[in-house]
Parts: sequence; C-alpha cells; structure tokens
Amino acid sequence: MTTLDHARALDRADPLAGFRDRFALPEGILYLDGNSLGALPRAVAPALADAAQRQWGERLIRSWNEGWIDAPQRLGARIAPLIGAAPHEVIVGDTTSAHLFKALVAALRRDPARRTIVSEAGNFPTDLHVAEGAVGCVPGARLKVVARDELAGALDADTAVLLLTHVHYKTAERFDLAEWTARAQAAGALMLWDFSHSVGAVPIDVTAAGADLAVGCTYKYLNGGPGAPAFLYVAERWQDALANPVSGWMGHAEPFAFQDGYRPAAGMKRWLVGTPPILGMASLEAALAIWDAVDMAALTAKSASLFAILAAAGDAAGLPCVTPVDPTQRGSHISFRHPCAYEVTQALIARGVIGDFRAPDVIRLGLTPLYLSHEDVWRAGEQLREVIATEAWRDPAFATRNAVT
Ligand SMILES: *Cc1c(COP(=O)(O)O)cnc(C)c1O
Repeated sequence: MTTLDHARALDRADPLAGFRDRFALPEGILYLDGNSLGALPRAVAPALADAAQRQWGERLIRSWNEGWIDAPQRLGARIAPLIGAAPHEVIVGDTTSAHLFKALVAALRRDPARRTIVSEAGNFPTDLHVAEGAVGCVPGARLKVVARDELAGALDADTAVLLLTHVHYKTAERFDLAEWTARAQAAGALMLWDFSHSVGAVPIDVTAAGADLAVGCTYKYLNGGPGAPAFLYVAERWQDALANPVSGWMGHAEPFAFQDGYRPAAGMKRWLVGTPPILGMASLEAALAIWDAVDMAALTAKSASLFAILAAAGDAAGLPCVTPVDPTQRGSHISFRHPCAYEVTQALIARGVIGDFRAPDVIRLGLTPLYLSHEDVWRAGEQLREVIATEAWRDPAFATRNAVT
C-alpha cells in the first residue's frame, strides 16, 4: 500500500503539478470521471463569454468571416498532433457517432466486392449501433461482431473495414495501433479507429501506424465540454477517394455558390455536413490550448503512478481489477468488478469521490494526470477501501438508479 507521505513525495516531484491550476474544480470533490466528462478548464468560461457577447452579440453575422467558418479545420489542426496526424488530416464537427456513420458508409462503398464491417463484441454501444445503421444503408452489407480473440480470424476478402475502439471504455484494455492496422490492411480492409477513450490519455501515432480512418471524442480527456464536437481523421491518401454519404452544404466545394447539385470539396472539408456548432467549438478551442504545453511522456508516466496507487487500494479492498497491469496495454482509467458496483459507486459519490458505474458490475475510475494529484488518488483509494470494508454501500439510498450512470 502507498502511504500518504509517499503520495505527497510523488506530488513534489511531479512535472505536471502546475496544470491543476488551469482547471476549475469544486472544493471537497475528488473527480475521477474525467474519462467520461473532462473537468472545466479555467480558460473556457471567458472564451464562451467572448463567443456569446462579442462574436455573436456585437459582430453578429460578420463573425463567420472572422474565424467561425474555418473553425472545423483550425480545431482539427490543433488535435492533429495529439494523434500523430498532419494538420490537414483532421476536422472537427458533428458527434463521434455521426463521424462513425460517415466513415463506415464511405468504407463500405469504397470496394463493392467487400461487404462486411468487422467489430468487437462489447465495443462502445454507439459504435455497434451506428455500424448496424450503416450496413442498413448499403445493399448487401453486413456487420460481423466477434469476441476480441476472434477478431484476427474474422478478417477476410469480404472485410471492408475493421472498426475498433483503441482503449476499451469499460476495461481500459488497449489494442496495439500498428499491429491491428497492419492486420486489417493485410486483409485488404480499411482500419477505422475510435480514439474516444485514448486521445489525451495515451500516445497515439496514426502516421507511424499507417491508419486509414479515425474518430474521437473531445469532451473526455480533452476537456472540451459537454457535447463538444468530435473529430474525424482521414489519411491524406483517402481524402478524395472516399465520399461522405451525408453530403451537406458545408462539404460542398462552393457552399455559397448555392448550387442544386452536390460537388464535394477537396480535402477534409468534404467531411463536413452542416453549420459548425460554434459555441461548443469556442469551449473546445480554449480547452485545447492546454495541450500545447503537455509532455505526453510525463503524462503517461504519471497516469501509471496514479494507477499503481488505486490498484493497491483496490487490492487491499479485495476488489478484482479488470484493467491490464501492463501500462502499455491500457488507457488511463482503472476498473474494478463488484456485484453491487452501482451501489458502491453511489456510496463513493456521496463521499465526494466521483467515478462511474458501467453495467453490469464495473466501478470505473478515471485517472487524469493534468488535474489529479497522487494525494487525491490516495484519498480516493482510502474512501474505496472504507466503503467496501464498512459495507457503507448497503444503505438503500444508494440503490436508486439515475438515468445517467
Ligand atoms: C464516448 C464515446 C463515444 C461518444 O459518442 P458521441 O457520439 O459523442 O455520443 C463514442 N465512442 C466511444 C468509444 C466512446 O467512448
């Protein structure tokens, strides 16, 4: 077990300690859910006020030509280094779900001889739901969902695209980016990654891996705010070869020519659909500024030392950990199994330790090195041990289910 003194010593030597001040977190709360909704960066509220009062209120429609219309590309270029892409290979707008749909249908239409989307059973629900929807839109297409250890065998001459979530939302297990990209491509398929649980959490290099397509969420580790627009990556070699099935006016070569026929824009612009969500983008842009100064090696090292503290606490509490112990095989959260995981999570929240529950039996705790200290995580671990040891979770108040768990 880590001691409080040891945790404090780790904090004194922490090169990322200064980032905590860039976030506005409530007093008395230990926030271990930044993998689901990132904390609020202090720069966001003034940026939102500026977007509303000056850009919208004073500049009115003139703002479209004063930075709004280029926001999807500008924010894409800021996210690009976080996934190892070139600035012109990433665009921001729409939700992760919408980007998944566009990318999957485009991948299915690339080669009429390949009709199958392959994905993993237990993948994040929206990935599988959207894949179901995508195959419904392409004649003859089908979805093959198999267990992780059957994925390699499921790839064949009919596979159009392999859709994998890089870091699993529940267990935090991580796929090897280069290895699985190479497997999909060796079968002649495209590789589509979902980085929702890995961007801002682990190093990603799509260029080195040779990935084809990727999507990802910005309201988790990137702290863009609730419902902040997601990103889409299309490797340069596919940008003009693939077609966006949701052919909206913002993806048109000349949206303000107001023509009847659709003519796709060159590059990533064709992957846009409608008017970009400017207020969500203003929040995201302010949040992304933090990443300019983040050293990913320091981030992953701290994620590992935070993990070790909670893993030891979980062990002391007798909770089975479902997250890999090898840091290179996981993301930046830790999950424990408990038959009454919902109640345990609620008991923790009542004590000011915010994590979440994932059905049917997982307690999930996010480790965000930018705003959690080793002492914070040590204190959270102590609460976890106490809730289990005293069975405080048995209080019937903790059994009432909320809509969002
Ligand atoms: C969070 C998450 C999403 C979210 O999709 P939205 O369309 O933004 O709701 C998608 N995929 C994965 C793997 C996620 O973790």
